Amino acid sequence: MDDLGRSLAGDDDMVMMGGGNPGYIPDFQKILKKRLTEIIANDDIFHNLTGVYDPPQGNLRFIESCAALLRKEYSWDVGPENICLTNGSQSGFFILFNLFAGEFEDGSVRQIRLPLAPEYIGYNDLGLREDFFIATKPRIDYLEDRMFKYRVDFDQLEIGEETGAICVSRPTNPTGNVITDQEVTRLLEISKEHDIPLILDNAYGVPFPGIIYSKATPMWDQNIIKCLSLSKIGLPAARTGIIVAREEIIQAVTAMNAIMFLAPGSMGAMLADSLVRSGEIIELGKKMIRPFYQEKSRKAITCVQRELEGTPYKVHRPEGSMFLWLWFENLPISSLELYERLKKNGVLVVSGHYFFPGIPSEWKHTRECIRLTYSQNDDDVARGIKVIGEEIKRVYQDG
Ligand code: PLP
Repeated sequence: MDDLGRSLAGDDDMVMMGGGNPGYIPDFQKILKKRLTEIIANDDIFHNLTGVYDPPQGNLRFIESCAALLRKEYSWDVGPENICLTNGSQSGFFILFNLFAGEFEDGSVRQIRLPLAPEYIGYNDLGLREDFFIATKPRIDYLEDRMFKYRVDFDQLEIGEETGAICVSRPTNPTGNVITDQEVTRLLEISKEHDIPLILDNAYGVPFPGIIYSKATPMWDQNIIKCLSLSKIGLPAARTGIIVAREEIIQAVTAMNAIMFLAPGSMGAMLADSLVRSGEIIELGKKMIRPFYQEKSRKAITCVQRELEGTPYKVHRPEGSMFLWLWFENLPISSLELYERLKKNGVLVVSGHYFFPGIPSEWKHTRECIRLTYSQNDDDVARGIKVIGEEIKRVYQDG
């Protein structure tokens, strides 16, 4: 975390390919500036932005706009009672995970089931007790052009009393995987059989910001807890997470909001309300946000194929988000050591071993992978991948 803060603050010449900060999209900035100007021009609205607590559920006008959009676009049977805001989806996950897992009053202990790991690094320390996650290793499909894809291994997914909820990010951070509609449907069936919720983390996904390059239907029903965020569309500093779930879950999260924060912040809701109310947020995703990242992904893959040529690398097929997941089979050093060496050479990536909560560390993918982010400046990304290529060649030659 120290690395990420330091480099984003522009303190040094590091090539920053480590964090999950969204890229800079000038046209989106223009939209935000225009909205801010409108807010500042109106004393009442400006006062609401800065001088009034929202209720613990979050800004009600924005919540109504979200419900109306989801009903209109996707026919989801949701009203404002099915939606609440959190201070970033990260704090929403803290609340949800500890609501459904941990130690309960009757002495039982439940865990969060990750049907597929690698999974989002930010889940790792969210549990209020040890052994919070159980995860299942994926099946691997080997594809053309040195690509591969992780799939949920339903044969290994044995769920019992110990599981309090299933959670999966779609697209997945760190791999850029997008689990298929069929996989989601099957996970939903399993969650219903066991009377536990399926938490879908759509921080990068549909309906917005829509950073998905493959096909993915936005799904919701009473058994799904859908977590959205305004961060990756370009508002990470506003810290706005959106949870869509059945009413009693929303009430529980709202109560936790009141205890922990009094109220979620209003900034994201007020900046994005007109985009959501008009439905423009979905169009922006399709026409501005997704093309921006898809083009970056294409360029990053071209660099990988050029700079890593001659090494036994593989790359997860990029289907969404802003990451490439590189797998170096039989890497002579650990991915953590590779991270250290790259850092010495001025490139920050994230060692893959952090992304396997609930998976035993003897699985080779936990030692042989790194995640890199392609959301920042293209020249820097190209420079970073060149350095990775040079280091990887040295590692395979000399250890
Ligand atoms: N989920 C995933 C998969 C993420 O990558 C992130 C942030 O990087 C989050 C959730 C949390 O996002 P935020 O708290 O900014 O909404």
